[in-house]
Amino acid sequence: MHLKTYNFNEMKYKTEILFLSFLMLLYTASAQPEQDKALLNGFHSISSHEILGFVEELSSEKYKGRLSGSPEYLEAAKWCADKFSEWGILPANKGSYFQRFPNAFTEVYSTGSLSYSFDSKETQYSFPDDYFPGSNSASGTVTGELVYVGFGITALELGYDSYENVDVKGKIVILESGVPYTKNDTVQVKWTPYAYHRYKLENALAHGAAGLLYAGKTANPNTIHLENFIYAHIDKKVVQQLFSDSGKNYDEVKKKLGTMEPFSFALNTGQQVTISAETKHFPMAESCNVVGVIEGSDPVLKDEVIIVGGHLDGQGYLGETFPGALDNGSGVADILGAAKALAQSDVKPKRSVLFILFGGEECGLYGSKYYVSNLLFPVDKTLMMINLDMVGNGTGFFVSNGKTFPGLFRHFEQVNKNYLHREMKASEQRKNYGRPRSDASIFENAGIATFSLWTSNSVHPVYYHHPLDKTDVLTPEIMEDAAKLIYLGVLGVANDENL
Ligand SMILES: [Zn+2]
Repeated sequence: MHLKTYNFNEMKYKTEILFLSFLMLLYTASAQPEQDKALLNGFHSISSHEILGFVEELSSEKYKGRLSGSPEYLEAAKWCADKFSEWGILPANKGSYFQRFPNAFTEVYSTGSLSYSFDSKETQYSFPDDYFPGSNSASGTVTGELVYVGFGITALELGYDSYENVDVKGKIVILESGVPYTKNDTVQVKWTPYAYHRYKLENALAHGAAGLLYAGKTANPNTIHLENFIYAHIDKKVVQQLFSDSGKNYDEVKKKLGTMEPFSFALNTGQQVTISAETKHFPMAESCNVVGVIEGSDPVLKDEVIIVGGHLDGQGYLGETFPGALDNGSGVADILGAAKALAQSDVKPKRSVLFILFGGEECGLYGSKYYVSNLLFPVDKTLMMINLDMVGNGTGFFVSNGKTFPGLFRHFEQVNKNYLHREMKASEQRKNYGRPRSDASIFENAGIATFSLWTSNSVHPVYYHHPLDKTDVLTPEIMEDAAKLIYLGVLGVANDENL
């Protein structure tokens, strides 16, 4: 222990310090509980009931599944902008809540039909169990024999051609999504251009195919409308039937796909499929992001921004509405819940908070791509972006990239630890060499610290891009907690002067 004697001046100094500390204690004793109370008032204003109501609205029939570019999508966007306005969230794009961009789309009028004939047997397939019509299919009817073309890729520079030993002229091709190379490394970059569905459709048409069946039943507007080119998506059991009538085993064939050797063949002569579709293409359509901002309260820090984003669009209507409740009515509803609480809270964020509800995600990440090339805040003033996609079915949270940005993530972790007590896992950022698959990856590639939030430990089945993605497969409690996590986490980051 270090002993010393105090002189008078030192004593006086110490007394002053003591008095000052006492004053500060008094101040924090009165200010801190007030601040905490205001924070928690906002926190408790967030209700699962209200958030579920937002998803019910967005996934209702009147918006027909929110296909980006469609009039119904624009109506849904307007509904969200009206909510921002009602809560005092300001328009973020020069007085407008909208950022518009070109977004061609195809309206699908009915489920169309799919039938198969072989050996004097006629099979009428049914929607949605056996097939979905193609989201960008041409209108009309096509009949043809079948050729399986694996991944449907012609990459001569990579020594790979799915069409090398088959003649598909006038035939209907069956193909798979993906590429044969599956490692996430620099080699993958060479395969990425061939990973796009639109490439595969164009390549099939270029080889003279009359129509196309995608193996795997997932509604997907991220394709291309090609004149007179009719296509549909088929369930695995349909592929299995078509193959077994040709003496092939689909599971065996799929195993060969991973070998880097193209594996294509014609099915038996006489195996004939007919695809019908009723559609209309709108090449000049426009869509939009919805952008709202809460301006920061600090004169300097308000130039910096935290972005909270999620896609508003869905897969639309394919003769039946794909409600897109989990994907991504849930993410949007969580954002709306947090936005309302933030806008109405007595605790003001020092930095600005920008909300972006993206359009065109399902069509190919159009809205996020448009935003990063038409920024509302510069990249070096964008502290972070958090993207919410499918945040509404489960009991826990997962935050990708959380471990890469601990200074930012700490705020969300603390909220969870102190108030929510959910399982919360995080990952390290990992470069993706393949095709970007989410709005978050577009922000990440633009050099912005980006988190993706989703729910883990699903409670209900996940009906991904399926007409059963309805509100009854949501867990409203986790949506309330997601909104609370965003509300307090964003305030934590916005007011952290050490960042
Ligand atoms: Zn989504």
